[in-house]
Amino acid sequence: MSHILSTYGRFPLTLVKGEGTRVWDEAGKSYLDFCSGIAVCALGHSPKVMVDAISDQAATLIHCCNLYNIPQQEELATLIVEKHVGIEGKVFFSNSGAESNDGLIKSARRYGHSKPQADGSPRYEILSFNQSFHGRTLAGISATGQDKVKEGFEPLPSGFRHLPFNDLNALTEAIKPETVAIMLEPIQGEGGVNVATPEFLKGVAELCKKHDLLLLMDEVQAGFGRCGDPMAWREIAPEIEPDGISWAKGMGGGFPIGAFWLSDRIAPLMGPGSHGTTYGGSPLACAASLAVLKEIADKKIIDNVRAQEAHIRETIRSWNHPLVTEVRGKGLLLGIGLDTDKMATPEGKLPSIHLSLELLKAGLLAPPAGPATLRLLPPLNVTTEEIDQALDIVHSTLTSLTTGH
Ligand code: PLP
Repeated sequence: MSHILSTYGRFPLTLVKGEGTRVWDEAGKSYLDFCSGIAVCALGHSPKVMVDAISDQAATLIHCCNLYNIPQQEELATLIVEKHVGIEGKVFFSNSGAESNDGLIKSARRYGHSKPQADGSPRYEILSFNQSFHGRTLAGISATGQDKVKEGFEPLPSGFRHLPFNDLNALTEAIKPETVAIMLEPIQGEGGVNVATPEFLKGVAELCKKHDLLLLMDEVQAGFGRCGDPMAWREIAPEIEPDGISWAKGMGGGFPIGAFWLSDRIAPLMGPGSHGTTYGGSPLACAASLAVLKEIADKKIIDNVRAQEAHIRETIRSWNHPLVTEVRGKGLLLGIGLDTDKMATPEGKLPSIHLSLELLKAGLLAPPAGPATLRLLPPLNVTTEEIDQALDIVHSTLTSLTTGH
């Protein structure tokens, strides 16, 4: 009998080893990993640069609390601000995406106190979008635009409202005197791989300027090269400038670390005592992330992401498969839309989960995103050969699941 709290319905798989894009289960069977720990293992499994960085740092100093200076944080923050964000600002290191978003939400509340409503009461409301996912803390599920994560947890922290994604008119009409920020994923991951349109992102940025709202970009899943540019929003609307950004997942390549960035205009609001963490930004976590982000700062990884995206799109288009409705996403955060009416799915199972299970049996890990989308999230340094092998498995599995086949 397991003593693990059963918050997850797990796939029947136990991994014991990983190398690059391959993983092995306890029986020695190998799989291509196009899940990457849900967009985490940016450089694949156990890449040498990370193993070396973690081993060296672990042998020197594993943990140092935030009461003291941590030079690895300084180096990582400088790399993030100067090489990746390219806008002056300050970084706070956390341990996860949800924590990073909580930091942004708290910063927005501070902003609402510093720039209150006409009657002097603070602004506090954050607008976010349907199908978004912002994490599992209480504030994170409040910000999330999906009811399923909130059931049974009410009363939730108030001050969040959800609007249709990519609908600028609805957003324009929704802004009230108490509104202080707009939070969004430039490419929604968990919600089914939905890409913000350039018009929408530009419009959001303009509304933020006009109404003095903070533009908060959740790049937890999409950021640091997964979608091409290290800042996913730049792949869509390079001219916009957020006030806050959150990250986690790929920035640690598998070592738990997250961060949020605030522009220099907002950063002074989060002074000493305003926020904290025991573990966030430990020397070990920063050393791991430095190894990953230095590698990604080398343009070749981003070039590979763009080239492999084109290859995946071209290959899937050439199938003209009856089950495939479209390919959504950017870079290597891609979703294959499924025509579930044409798909043989056992009673009571979600089509996307059934497909993931069948792919697993055939030797490929790829997670669902909502009921009718399969996600492809290979490591950013995946090879064309690995993609061809994975897509062969996807193609034959889709064909075997097509009704009437
Ligand atoms: N934000 C986005 C866009 C995510 O995709 C996720 C996780 O899937 C989170 C936040 C939460 O991150 P974490 O699970 O590290 O708390």
